[in-house]
Amino acid sequence: MKPPPFELLLATSVAEVVGALAADDGAKVLAGGQSLVPLLALRLARPTVLVDVNGLDLAGIEVVDGEVRIGALVRHRRLERDATVRASAPLLAQAAALVGHPAIRHRGTLGGSIAHADPVAELPAALLALGGSVVVEGPDGRRTIRANQLFEGFLTTSISPDELLVEVRVPAAGPSTRTAFCEWAPRVGDFAVAGVALVLDDSSVRAAVCGVATRPVDISDAFAPLMGAPLSDAVVAEVAARVRAACAGDDDRAELAALLAVRALREVA
Ligand SMILES: Cc1cc2nc3c(=O)[nH]c(=O)nc-3n(C[C@H](O)[C@H](O)[C@H](O)COP(=O)(O)OP(=O)(O)OC[C@H]3O[C@@H](n4cnc5c(N)ncnc54)[C@H](O)[C@@H]3O)c2cc1C
Repeated sequence: MKPPPFELLLATSVAEVVGALAADDGAKVLAGGQSLVPLLALRLARPTVLVDVNGLDLAGIEVVDGEVRIGALVRHRRLERDATVRASAPLLAQAAALVGHPAIRHRGTLGGSIAHADPVAELPAALLALGGSVVVEGPDGRRTIRANQLFEGFLTTSISPDELLVEVRVPAAGPSTRTAFCEWAPRVGDFAVAGVALVLDDSSVRAAVCGVATRPVDISDAFAPLMGAPLSDAVVAEVAARVRAACAGDDDRAELAALLAVRALREVA
């Protein structure tokens, strides 16, 4: 099928994007197009105006005051390889490397993946595990949304239709931070069935899972037995049981999440 007709606006500033989104309920942002274009072709999305943001200057990567700030237009492939991201936000690099195939990763953007909020996507789960946030700009200016208040349900976030996600922020990794993203997909490059993102350091552990609900789920509490206890088979079994309980709903997916949590744990340990 071909997409229904739409106008195309090649935006040159954030203000122009926000103005176009506010002026027309049917306007939609086009970033990497790796999720939106298939939806258009299937006629599951019917925007009146596509606001192409690829000409905007939103691809910076910097560490400021212990925080890694990444522009919304940074492509998955760059996240995977960038030296600053690998050193200061390694979980994002690990998650990006698992997104689709290289051709997809060359076009898809961090902001697009977060805004699209696919419940099986790796980057939203990584953002939640990192306790990160996004900066969005709309008609009333900029605001920050924490990851735990961002993902509301299937392909749904708390970003308003007239807001543009401009930046993703995550705490910079410290010297003791270790991270892992473990997932299972039927074939390399396929969407994952489930995945677990884990961030461990000397004083805290955070984790999130994708693929077990309509949005990524924070399962940090399941890893609490790790704190202050040496890693033993009993601790690993308890973590697995807690992950299974936290993902209750679909027994197979909960079991898979528990296995992936143990794999992630062994990777960081
Ligand atoms: C074959 C194939 C395999 C894939 N495999 C995976 C996979 O394994 N894991 C995975 O996570 N993804 C996968 N994807 C999707 C891919 O990661 C996309 O890059 C991503 O989901 C969306 O990013 P994008 O930049 O392409 O966004 P687009 O497709 O351009 O946009 C997606 C949605 O987000 C909105 N949007 C985009 N940018 C912004 C912004 N800055 N502010 C506000 N709204 C915005 C758009 O309006 C649209 O609704 C796959 C895609 C394909 C085609």
